Amino acid sequence: MITVENLTKTFPGSTGQVRALDGVNLDVAAGTVLGVVGPSGSGKSTLARCVGLLERPDSGSIRVDGTDLVSLDGIALRAARRQIGVVPQGDSLLRQRTAAGNVALPLEAAGVAGPQRRNRVAELLDLVGLTDKAGSYPDQLSGGQRQRIAVARALAASPSVLLADEPTSALDPDTTGSVLAVLDRARAELGVTVLVVTHDMGVVRRICDDVAVLENGRVVEHGKVLDLVSDAASRTASSLLPAVD
Ligand code: ADP
Ligand code: MG
Repeated sequence: MITVENLTKTFPGSTGQVRALDGVNLDVAAGTVLGVVGPSGSGKSTLARCVGLLERPDSGSIRVDGTDLVSLDGIALRAARRQIGVVPQGDSLLRQRTAAGNVALPLEAAGVAGPQRRNRVAELLDLVGLTDKAGSYPDQLSGGQRQRIAVARALAASPSVLLADEPTSALDPDTTGSVLAVLDRARAELGVTVLVVTHDMGVVRRICDDVAVLENGRVVEHGKVLDLVSDAASRTASSLLPAVD
């Protein structure tokens, strides 16, 4: 479903160029969940932003369902963006819009008509279990509820791919469960292919089929979660993937 080949991205830094991505290769099979882990600054968000078409890589290819996204422009780029839902890192909801208003945003941008839009928003709120919070503003929601609304918004245009950048990093274990349940539902009920960036190996064990470990802009491990957990091959992998209890 997603194939990333030799992806590079460099940013200008205060002490010269920063190679955020240094030849990244990845595969995510349709309908599976890939976890991307790695130390802070290893390039996880840059990778997610490139695959989400929010950042243009310097070189390499990103194919989703056979289409190379890197070369797209204009209308084709906008159409491809609709295929990929993004839950950005951090608090991303618009404060001045209600939960329903936030979920409706991509539908408004796509020109979906009022009645159809309201039906779709209702469906999405139901999917994330927050029908009763439709009229609440982000400040009136818990952190976990806000993230579930961000997931609903990312799913609004029925994307085939969902990217979530540290969706549970600010949450306690209980609330984390509710957000993971929503990601799992997206995969199980909508057949969405999910890439989730996380620091939390609990997240990887609970919802990911595969895991990729990034270090200095490179993938140093990539495999089935079960294999990596039971047979940590490198020092990085063993420190990031402590033995299962
Ligand atoms: P992670 O999400 O794993 O913490 P990032 O992808 O955010 O890592 O960052 C990877 C590297 O690229 C870091 O060294 C970071 O400082 C740098 N970087 C990321 N985005 C930018 C940017 N917009 N401008 C300059 N440097 C950036
Ligand atoms: Mg990040």
